[in-house]
Parts: sequence; structure tokens; C-alpha cells
Amino acid sequence: MEFQKLRDCRFDGSGHFKLDGYPTDVHVEKRLKPNFEALTEANTQRMAELQDKLYAEGCEGVVVILQAMDAAGKDSTIKHVMTGLNPQGVTVASFKQPSSEELAHDFLWRAVTKLPRRGCIGLFNRSYYEDVLVVRVHDLQKTYRMPKRVLDTPKDDFFEQRYRQIRDFERYLWENGYRVLKIFLNVSRDEQRRRFLDRIDDEAKNWKFSSSDVAERELWPKYMDAYEQCIDRTATKEAPWYVIPADQKFYARWLVSEAMVRVLEECGPRYPELPAEQRDDLASAREALLAETGGHDDRGERDESELTVALSENS
Ligand code: AMP
Ligand code: MG
Repeated sequence: MEFQKLRDCRFDGSGHFKLDGYPTDVHVEKRLKPNFEALTEANTQRMAELQDKLYAEGCEGVVVILQAMDAAGKDSTIKHVMTGLNPQGVTVASFKQPSSEELAHDFLWRAVTKLPRRGCIGLFNRSYYEDVLVVRVHDLQKTYRMPKRVLDTPKDDFFEQRYRQIRDFERYLWENGYRVLKIFLNVSRDEQRRRFLDRIDDEAKNWKFSSSDVAERELWPKYMDAYEQCIDRTATKEAPWYVIPADQKFYARWLVSEAMVRVLEECGPRYPELPAEQRDDLASAREALLAETGGHDDRGERDESELTVALSENS
């Protein structure tokens, strides 16, 4: 299998989406792992630079959606790829089983409450897409307290409506100054089995495993169908899906970092330029500060020797 570039993982709604055209593994040689780690590291630095500007400018918000089967690497992607970001401009929301409060609302409500401010990045660990994935697989919509006219909607129509509602919602976000980056970490069933075994054998990972994970695994084909349809129906030019081969974590992380850099570059953030009068304010503040030392700029004078003395006093 050839290396995949980010553009090979991208689906923007043109044509028909078939999941089997997207590999879970491109079998990168193990010896190349450090190279990819270095590339990821360089991307995280670039992300930090771009985020600094995004935050300063406060114009555009970015919502990053991570969807995947259990053990595909959502949590570790957040940990590894997002480390360089300034926490002040980042929010993380995990979408678990809805609370009764959440279930009493429309399905997009809880996502709306988790949106970042413009200028910030909101990471969604799972998202409103669960409402067309786990809900579809388990027919949970039948259990909702809703009027008969809604509950009587044939299943396919019900989910077609939800796909449309999601497209409309993402368009609404686009038109309100947000970009939505949607990532599906595409792990194989076999690799999930190995990672579950790790979670069982390694005490430090036990907490991540729940016996229901094995039951969900049994429904793998149904989940893949649900993913395939949902990606097909909700990918758009403004909010494409990235289907990332996730069997090799170092490779998946690199691709996610590529996608992050890309979306931040598309925002094209720039430090705000001060209007002329504020620049004048800066100039007079500068003069006043320098006047305190008789016009002498002493910033370069706190040299190493002072630091050495301070350190030895402390030891
Ligand atoms: P985890 O991400 O492993 O902590 O698990 C969270 C669980 O919550 C997953 O099994 C999700 O499928 C489930 N979940 C998330 N959103 C929903 C939803 N809207 N309805 C039902 N289950 C959900
Ligand atoms: Mg889980």
C-alpha cells in the first residue's frame, strides 16, 4: 500500500463514499516511526503559531470532531497532537451517553452548549455524530420521548432528516465564522482486538475497558454501515470528512496533525493590527517607561551572572 497523503483521506461529498476504498493500515515500516514523530512534532509547533494568531484575532472558531470505534485512539490523539496548543484557547468536550437533561432536548442542543468561542479551538471527543451512529445501530430513537408524528417516521427517513439537520447545522456554523474539521479514525476490527487485550493485560489501562466494549464490537458491521452512510451524507466542501488509517498510531497522529495545520492555515489568522491612535498610545507608554530610568534601556543588563548568583543562593 502506498503512503497516504492527507488529500487521499479527504472526502468532501463529491461522488459516493465507500468505506472499503479507505485503508485502516498502509503498513509504514517501523523504522520510519521516528521520522513521522518528527514530522508530527514540527506540525504541532506550526499549530501553536497559528493558534496564537487565531486567538489574538478572535475571528474564526474551529471545531474538531473525533469519531471512531473504541480503542481507535481518540484520547491519545488528543493527548499527543494537541499538546503544543495553548490551553487558554482550547476546550475539550467528551460526548458520553446523554444525561436525562440532554435527552430532554433536541440532539444538537448539547453540542451547541459545547461550542468554543470564535478564536478558540473546540475538540469534540465524539460528538453529535453519535446521534446517527450508536443511536442508529441500537434504534435508540425508538426510546425517545417524542410525539407520535416523529416516532412514526420510518427509520431511514428519520436518519436522512438527521443527516440534513447536521449539514444545515454545519453550514450554519460556517456562516457564523466557524470551521468544522471532521476526523474518522479508521481502525480495523483486528487491531481493536489487540488493543482491547492490551487494556485488559495492562493495569494502567484497565480503567479504559468496559465489558460493553466487547458487545459493541459484535456490532462492527452495523457500525461500519452507519459510518459509511453518515460520512456519505454529511461530507461537504466546507466541512469534509477525513478518513484516517488508524492501525498505526504514529501514522494516524501525523495525519491528524496535517489536518489540523491545514484547517488552521485555511483560517489564515493574523495578529490584529493596531489602529493608528492605539499605536500612538504604545509610543507614549514606551516613553513614560523609559523615562523612569532616565531614558536608559536596561533590558539587556540582567545578565547570566545575576541568574547564577540567584540559583546558588537557592541551593
Ligand atoms: P467512551 O467515549 O468510550 O467514554 O464512551 C462513551 C459512550 O457513550 C460510547 O459508547 C458512545 O457511543 C456513547 N454515546 C455518546 N453519545 C451518545 C448518544 N447520543 N446516545 C447514546 N450513546 C451515546
Ligand atoms: Mg469506550
